[in-house]
Amino acid sequence: MRKKKTIALVAHDNRKSDLIDWVEYNWKELFQHNLVCTGTTGSMVKEVMDKKCEDNNLIPPSITRFKSGPLGGDQQLGALIAEGKVDIFIFLWDPMQPQPHDVDVKALLRICALYNVVTATNRSTADFIISSELFHKDYKPAIIDYSSYINRLNK
Ligand code: PGA
Repeated sequence: MRKKKTIALVAHDNRKSDLIDWVEYNWKELFQHNLVCTGTTGSMVKEVMDKKCEDNNLIPPSITRFKSGPLGGDQQLGALIAEGKVDIFIFLWDPMQPQPHDVDVKALLRICALYNVVTATNRSTADFIISSELFHKDYKPAIIDYSSYINRLNK
């Protein structure tokens, strides 16, 4: 994981204000990284980043926006994770409301665990991640060896 990281940001509707507060607070840090979001979260993050950059005479970063989560955005993000292209995932999912795409949410959390992606599902963990010394360094997450699974039928 390079110093410049790819950070995925996703929040369910009831958690979007939390995520946006967090982005506003941490925009100077986030500005230095690649940001990837699901559709609606991405529009909100872009609005904050654009405003902060405008106020500070900076060129706003481009933000990759996938489809809205329930419309396939979670799966697009999952594919990016499976390709090893996401370093950190801040995922404020809603523990109080069932989602139409619950199966996609579960799949996304599973793929993060599978690929050992640094993941926060609440704001305090997000705070710990962004203030970690490792956040500012090159960091190599341990690669889990799935070769015995991949080769399980090659006897
Ligand atoms: P949204 O999707 O950013 O398009 O609202 C979030 C999600 O539910 O995964």
